[in-house]
Amino acid sequence: MPVGAFADPAPGLPEADGHVAVGDGLVPLVLAADCLPVALAGDGGVAMIHCGWRGLAAGIVGNGVEAAEARAATIGPGIGPCCYEVGETVLAAFEALGPGLASGRMLDLREVARRQLRQAGVEEIEVCELCTSCHPELFFSHRRDGEPTGRQAGLAWRD
Ligand SMILES: [Zn+2]
Repeated sequence: MPVGAFADPAPGLPEADGHVAVGDGLVPLVLAADCLPVALAGDGGVAMIHCGWRGLAAGIVGNGVEAAEARAATIGPGIGPCCYEVGETVLAAFEALGPGLASGRMLDLREVARRQLRQAGVEEIEVCELCTSCHPELFFSHRRDGEPTGRQAGLAWRD
């Protein structure tokens, strides 16, 4: 196969920001480079959801929790409030979650996801506090590097 040409590994599947695997043998994966990769696990299966501000504002956390019947979640590395300056539109999208999500225009996306997980009934939540933009030795960061940059992969599976 020539370099740069890849067969579509899943013809017919729509592109999506979240995947739920029901049963064993499938490993959902998301790619991110500042957005949060969030893993969900519950009686309905395991899920990976890709959480940028648009997806979070559109309810991807609640949808993922419902689909996986999630009781536990892990929020992976993403851009921290130290580096995530946003505009009024983005801040306004999360006003309903209450105060303390932002310092000025610096939004804490992890806290957005954590509050939404709690609202959806998930009590067991682990959070990676590392900022992708602050750690070039560990992570790709779209904000820091621009395009092209790499992506982190987040995967979830059942033992
Ligand atoms: Zn940072």
